[in-house]
Amino acid sequence: MDCRTAESMVTRFIDHSLSMNELEGFLDHIEHCPSCYDELETYFIVHEAMQQLDEDEDGKVLDFKKLLEQEIRRTRRNIHQKRVMYFVTGLLCVCAAIALCVFAILVIFS
Ligand SMILES: [Zn+2]
Repeated sequence: MDCRTAESMVTRFIDHSLSMNELEGFLDHIEHCPSCYDELETYFIVHEAMQQLDEDEDGKVLDFKKLLEQEIRRTRRNIHQKRVMYFVTGLLCVCAAIALCVFAILVIFS
């Protein structure tokens, strides 16, 4: 993925509207590209600061950089969990198909 593609995904990352494959490519890119990470960080901080204005005014200053790191970690974890789920689902389908074949063979040859 090049920087221009990654930059075009920054706002969609913040809106959580990237697909799983896009997310993975995006995360891989920003982890190795400081300038795109900075770009993301800037957008993220602005976005979070605006939300905080809407939500509460208890004067608590959030560590936005840490929040972004948590967000990235959480996204990574989600991708991983989805992968595992797809894998398990696929495995179950294969097992079911094999069981069905074995059953069919047993019925035919019995
Ligand atoms: Zn880049």
